[in-house]
Amino acid sequence: MPDTAATNHEFRAEVRKVLNIITNSLYTNREIFLRELVSNASDALDKLRFQQNRGSTPRAPELPLEIRITTDKDGKTLTIADTGIGMTREELVENLGTIARSGSEQFLADLAAESAGKKEGDGTPDASNIIGRFGVGFYAVFMVADKVDVTSRPAFEDAPACTWTSDGLGTFTVTEAQGDAVRRGTTITAHLKEDAAEFLEKYRCESVIRKHSAFIPFPVFVDGDQVNTTPALWREPKFSVTREQYAEFYKFLTYDGKDPLDTLHLSVDAPVQFNALLFIPDTTQDFFGADRDRWGLDLYARRVLIQRENKELLPEYLGFLKGAVDTEDLPLNISRETLQENVLLRKIQQTITKQMLTHLEKLAESDKEKYNTFWLRHGRIFKLGYHDFVNRDRVAGLMRFNSSIHENAEELTSLDEYMARGKEGQKTIWYVASPTREAARLNPHLEMFRRKGLEVLFLYEPIDEFVMEGLNTYKEWTLKAVEHADDAALKDFADTGEEQPKAAPLDDEDVTRFDALLTRIKDILGDRVKEVRVSHRLADSPACLVSPDGGMTSSMEKLLRVMNKDDTVPQKILEVNRDHPLLRTLLRIHKANPEDAMLTEMVQSLYDTSLLLDGYLKDPQALAARTNKLMEQAGAWYAELRNL
Ligand code: ADP
Ligand code: MG
Repeated sequence: MPDTAATNHEFRAEVRKVLNIITNSLYTNREIFLRELVSNASDALDKLRFQQNRGSTPRAPELPLEIRITTDKDGKTLTIADTGIGMTREELVENLGTIARSGSEQFLADLAAESAGKKEGDGTPDASNIIGRFGVGFYAVFMVADKVDVTSRPAFEDAPACTWTSDGLGTFTVTEAQGDAVRRGTTITAHLKEDAAEFLEKYRCESVIRKHSAFIPFPVFVDGDQVNTTPALWREPKFSVTREQYAEFYKFLTYDGKDPLDTLHLSVDAPVQFNALLFIPDTTQDFFGADRDRWGLDLYARRVLIQRENKELLPEYLGFLKGAVDTEDLPLNISRETLQENVLLRKIQQTITKQMLTHLEKLAESDKEKYNTFWLRHGRIFKLGYHDFVNRDRVAGLMRFNSSIHENAEELTSLDEYMARGKEGQKTIWYVASPTREAARLNPHLEMFRRKGLEVLFLYEPIDEFVMEGLNTYKEWTLKAVEHADDAALKDFADTGEEQPKAAPLDDEDVTRFDALLTRIKDILGDRVKEVRVSHRLADSPACLVSPDGGMTSSMEKLLRVMNKDDTVPQKILEVNRDHPLLRTLLRIHKANPEDAMLTEMVQSLYDTSLLLDGYLKDPQALAARTNKLMEQAGAWYAELRNL
């Protein structure tokens, strides 16, 4: 097919789906179509400048790098023209006819979530925070236009200008453009819908640009007058920038509707020169899901954008930070490949990391509430800093935990605060992993700690245990799971006063008989347990399961089993509480008849309930049946005993 002929194309299915929604259901905040077109124009100018800095000369080199918006009331059109990199015929078809599949899916999913959240309102979703994030920004123009022409001429290829035309329904056409209308770059003409006539007003367009595109680094003109005059904020002296300007820039950068939680503006001269503007968002990003790769800082060299979301500038655990870094020390003609493993960027990263940790330490001191908000929003990723060997103790010092001394699950403590509350002679920070606070409090391993008045940190997320094991020590204290506490570790700490009276100690003969009972219990349970022994860690519970010494904690083991799809029940040690009334009763029955059927039933149930507490019960039907049978018997005896 000759290049000059008009060709007809169908939009790909995912584009049609997105377009259908954009044209028919999005009426709120339609003005953001202009933000998207200006942002694309700015990207195109960035790309041109990047090539230019690397030594290439574009077509029509005398043309300035700029964006011109013009309105035509008679023709009812709005035109956005840039002198950027432009597109070839093939690129027009490819870029404006398809969307990366994942992009459209994520867009539709986020949009659905947005409208679900808007149920109480008028029901129309506000796409302004969503459009533009998933490679569908261009299509936003169909919110206001029923026909769009895109004429483009590539800057670095000897090719004619071509025009892409569509009504945004199912198809588009591409033809070679007439005359010399576009000398370089892209001109987009939007034929506005009747109800979008407001965008034919100059002041309306100006206000949209000021609101959404104030920080575009190229001049933007509306009907001949330049609108954006805001300087690169990070280059300005700190005292001259207002809080509002910071917030405005943050929103421009991130599409976040909320102000940032905190801002850090840096101007550094040694060991490298750079300016940085860093924001801590007040929203949480899903780094463990959809947003996995959406992090990094925008890298500039002398105000020229080199790369968006550069990942060499931050360690991953500070990936929640948004912002820009500008350095004098980087050559403008650097290639993207040489940015990786770049020594200069390494140094900037180290400085940013240190400064950010200092900033957070100060915040934790001066504004506890705000710091805790930071922790709730970003703690999950920040914790991964336990990997950062150089800064490990500082990262650990900034971690926060819920603990047994707290009244509810929302309160937080630092490791230093924990240590300050420690008992005389205590050199261990104790923790327990548990899905919830309630489950943690019922964990039998905690009983001895409660009795001794020792504080225990509650870890609610699977990653927490890896973090604690990775840290291992903090300021010469050892971090340890309660289920790894041995008798020696706890016996030096006196019981706190207010405990119930203990059962009378067993005489020597009964101690021997109790050993025989342990053997009998092991016989009954067989291979289901590795060993049966007397516990020194239990106070109120009759029994618990523990891992063989030096093994993993049960929650860690569970995690690995899930990962390995292993659903067998692990063989553990059953520890029994010799002073518990239930065990004393078992002893009595055993003395009378070691083969008693009731004894067997009770031991089975004891094992089942221990398994249940450990989170492994696989056969709830058997447990329920046994419990009912025991109740049936106990009830009958009770009625008989009371002569009912
Ligand atoms: P995104 O900007 O997220 O890639 P868009 O839907 O906004 O998604 O744009 C799709 C693609 O179309 C861009 O990636 C770019 O390749 C191309 N494009 C859009 N507008 C222009 C323009 N003014 N100049 C050059 N290319 C453009
Ligand atoms: Mg875009």
